[in-house]
Amino acid sequence: MKETTIAAIASGISIGGVGIIRISGPQSYAIALEICQKESLVARHATFTQFYNGADEVMDEGIAIYFKGPNSFTGEDSVELQGHGGLVVLNCVLKRVYELGAEPAKAGEFTERAFLNGKLDLVQAEAIHDLIMSQSEAQAKAAMNSLSGQFSTKTSTISEALIHLRVYVEASIDFSEEDIDFISDGNVMARLNAVEADILNLLQNANQGKLLTDGLTVVLAGKPNAGKSSILNALSGEESAIVTDIAGTTRDTLKESIIIHGLPLHIIDTAGLRETNDVIEQEGIRRTREAMKKADLILWIHDDQDQSAEKDALLESLNAPILHIRNKIDLTGNEVGRVEDTIMLSAKRNDGIELLKDAIVEAVQFQPSQGMFSARERHLVALRESLEHLDVAKKLLNEGHSIDLVAEEIRLAQDDIGLITGRFTTDELLGEIFSSFCIGK
Ligand code: GDP
Repeated sequence: MKETTIAAIASGISIGGVGIIRISGPQSYAIALEICQKESLVARHATFTQFYNGADEVMDEGIAIYFKGPNSFTGEDSVELQGHGGLVVLNCVLKRVYELGAEPAKAGEFTERAFLNGKLDLVQAEAIHDLIMSQSEAQAKAAMNSLSGQFSTKTSTISEALIHLRVYVEASIDFSEEDIDFISDGNVMARLNAVEADILNLLQNANQGKLLTDGLTVVLAGKPNAGKSSILNALSGEESAIVTDIAGTTRDTLKESIIIHGLPLHIIDTAGLRETNDVIEQEGIRRTREAMKKADLILWIHDDQDQSAEKDALLESLNAPILHIRNKIDLTGNEVGRVEDTIMLSAKRNDGIELLKDAIVEAVQFQPSQGMFSARERHLVALRESLEHLDVAKKLLNEGHSIDLVAEEIRLAQDDIGLITGRFTTDELLGEIFSSFCIGK
């Protein structure tokens, strides 16, 4: 348990009907009694009260709720003071809380304390952040699934399986003098294969969760005037990119996020790829090429009137999937439709945009499902690394190496899995995770 008491505004820095100050730590209760000028507060009861400053003047009135540890979010004694949601009045109350001995909470410190006190694991702590930051209903639902433990449970099951397997393998070291041959009965290999399959399955699910949590970078590229900005506008339903018929006016790489079927897409609308002497435009072209290298998906826009079959050399050097869009079919009389990776549409008439959205989601292999949970890159890395250790373990086993080397690889795989929920952790990792939170969380 921490010795310090921390406090912050938990209801965000905007004006609202109600504002909440959260206090957590050993002095919370005493501070609340002083501010409310009460003899006592009944735990988990809403008490209507005035909030007083040091000169016994009423600053605000509202509700105080005392949560006696460990039955609180952080697991410590905590108090919520719910007053009026104006920033000046909230800050007056907060200032008094500090005067009475609380310290300003650091970003994510309430959630970090909850983690350190075993109220939730790291995946759940991250899910709180994802839930608050979610931009779509699908993201919020996935974050809630992680928060309620769907990801953690699967991770723990794998962790248990690895522990049992390691214990079994280590037992064979202890009994190696005797006649029991644990290894050659094939049981160890079968169990290694089984746990590997479970990790692979979880990795696939986590990968979908990560797509949903982080979104994808999509680059809009093609010749000037093909209709890149118009397509972006049609996809986002907003007039955010400059649409003009002077060739080469989208000089900067413009970035905006839109949601398609719950999936956030960070769209980069690029300068037209064309040879030019204009210095600024050349810079735009350089950025286009840079953006294309980092993209998860490229939308290559063609003007359907332009039937020249020239191919850009750049298209061949890219790893990301490419969708070709033939725009302006209203001018050529072609029908809305899709043939393989080519989509025929008209941005101006808003014809074929739904078809494009479906093609995008399909191209990045996003498969929204009911049980999706939010996940992050670090989870994927941990899962991949644990698989690598199991691979080494299998190799060592096959080649008849010393069995304690096999046990060691299984232990390393187990440590990787432990990193996910924080069963195994470092201060650095915790700092990295919680510092990305806002104050008050
Ligand atoms: P960008 O340079 O590739 O970003 O192209 P813009 O989106 O600025 O479009 C260039 C011009 O083509 C503008 O005058 C648009 O109104 C026009 N345009 C874009 N899409 C269509 C379309 O589907 N049909 C027709 N007729 N004109 C379009």
